[in-house]
Amino acid sequence: APPRSRPRRREMSEGDDVLARWSDGLLYLGNVKRVDGVKQCCLVRFEDNSEFWVLRKDIHSFAAGVEEVCCICEAPPLKEPLVNCLKCRHGYHAECHTPSIEPEADSESWICRQCVFAVATKRGGAIKRGRFARLMHFMKLRLPYQLTSLDWDPQHLSNQQQCYCYCAGPGEWNLKMLQCASCGQWFHEACTQCLTKPLLYGDRFYQFQCSVCNKGPETVKRLPMTWVDLAHLVLYHLSLCCKRKYFDFDHEILSFTNENWDSLLLGALSDTPRQERCHNLLNALNSQKDRFVSGKEIKKKKCLFGLQVRAPPPLSSDSSPLITERARRGRRRDGRRPASQELERRRGGENPGQTRDAGREGAVPSGVGQRGLVLNSTH
Ligand SMILES: [Zn+2]
Ligand SMILES: [Zn+2]
Ligand SMILES: [Zn+2]
Ligand SMILES: [Zn+2]
Repeated sequence: APPRSRPRRREMSEGDDVLARWSDGLLYLGNVKRVDGVKQCCLVRFEDNSEFWVLRKDIHSFAAGVEEVCCICEAPPLKEPLVNCLKCRHGYHAECHTPSIEPEADSESWICRQCVFAVATKRGGAIKRGRFARLMHFMKLRLPYQLTSLDWDPQHLSNQQQCYCYCAGPGEWNLKMLQCASCGQWFHEACTQCLTKPLLYGDRFYQFQCSVCNKGPETVKRLPMTWVDLAHLVLYHLSLCCKRKYFDFDHEILSFTNENWDSLLLGALSDTPRQERCHNLLNALNSQKDRFVSGKEIKKKKCLFGLQVRAPPPLSSDSSPLITERARRGRRRDGRRPASQELERRRGGENPGQTRDAGREGAVPSGVGQRGLVLNSTH
């Protein structure tokens, strides 16, 4: 049988309509403008007219007609005919798809992994009910790549292959991803089906186990948080969303905290009445000079607060110092550079709060005709 985990390397050409996976795990409609065969990436124009280089592994195309070869290994059918996906119409050898296609599957109803993810992934967490949710559960029991072959940085936050999650897409660990406590891989919020509330940027206060490690549904547990953790998390989230350092205590920090009180899942703190939240948060912000700066110290208004270092709050089990973005960038700059490092930097590193909003309406590539494939980008 052909190798399972070989990445798809079908020829792309300029003008092709494609779905490109973004670092949030979602797929966005785009059109190929240039192809770089050496670096294995394509310049894709999205529906908001922005253009980015995307790695070939993160681009999904649609079969133009009947294809004679498997879209994974490019070989013709063996003894059995190829199984075609109902949605994208690509053909697969049963053994080339992850997980391998069951013998009873037929081209009238079978849907490939890529198309299941295209329908099921959502901001805030993938769908939890219905046929696609069940198909996704099943697909998630196996990764379509070798976890052990990835080259990680010393803190296990990013890998050179830019391969994360069940979807093998790009990612930024601090932008709404969960790390599996068993295997250490990072998973997109959009690809997980266990969250009850959407993640904030840099929220690591979850104990998560992926479907592969669990050999079944994911599990997640909220970890206890202190007022200092909460203040740090809110400031970090706001600083990525608004791209500035200082925030007004009453109008921004406290009001954001109150508005999102239930989603923050604060455990023991969650019963705190509104009047006391103000005091506790202020106290936290003023008591931790190594984490927070107040406006008073920089000769601005004393009701302003910012983070000393723009880094997510550390877990209490973390003995390592704060992870700074400068340190990450410096480390990535040397050594082997992944082809789309520039893209990643623009995607997440520099403007992390900026998420793609392409693919709002626009043409559905021919051969798809299923609105499900573009639903991801409509909210
Ligand atoms: Zn094949
Ligand atoms: Zn498909
Ligand atoms: Zn994913
Ligand atoms: Zn795992």
